[in-house]
Amino acid sequence: MSSLEAEFVIPAIQGVSVAVRGKAARFPVRRIYCVGRNYAEHTREMGHDPDRELPFFFQKNPDNLVLDNGDFPYPSASNNVHFEVEMVVAIGTGGTDIPLEKALNHVYGYALGLDMTRRDLQGEAKKTGRPWEIGKAFEHSAPMTDIVTVEQIGHLSSGEISLKLNGETKQNSDLNQLIWSVPEIIAHLSAIFELKAGDLIMTGTPAGVGAVKRGDVMEGHCAGIGSITAKVV
Ligand code: MN
Repeated sequence: MSSLEAEFVIPAIQGVSVAVRGKAARFPVRRIYCVGRNYAEHTREMGHDPDRELPFFFQKNPDNLVLDNGDFPYPSASNNVHFEVEMVVAIGTGGTDIPLEKALNHVYGYALGLDMTRRDLQGEAKKTGRPWEIGKAFEHSAPMTDIVTVEQIGHLSSGEISLKLNGETKQNSDLNQLIWSVPEIIAHLSAIFELKAGDLIMTGTPAGVGAVKRGDVMEGHCAGIGSITAKVV
């Protein structure tokens, strides 16, 4: 019996999917990978040396996504929740040990996301050598736009990426400032995990991250993709 025909002892989980701009069909999400410290200025503001590190990765859960410019509920257990605006890569075909020169062939499209972070809990986890999930992979921690396809906009390697908080610019950089480019991220990541169709990769945030409070409105923008708005409630 295939899993489609199976009966379940508790209600089965429905998969998460994201809208694709201009299409009726949706993009099914398998995993969400995130790159840490991928803009030099942000790496410095977090107290690290951008020249010394290989890319590193953590994960969020597909059901952490907030779609359609939905609200961001202030999470429990934290008093210091930060925004991080990030370009997101949507993987259309998977693989392992994907070579650099073929990496972009695996990209289906791009989106814009917010890697919402319980900075206080992430900080404690760093200090005590514990995992980052408590700081990164909580409910509603990944607001994201619909996906724009490579067919529609080509590949994104430069252009403004920015975030305004209540109308005031807090983050403002360019995709050409990524320490590890999209092909390099895919090559590195596929050497340690098997990438599959449906994976999303949040590519890291520029400098200027900061705290939010209830009532704040976050507006992210990225050239080629457009905007995301999320109100903190
Ligand atoms: Mn991030």
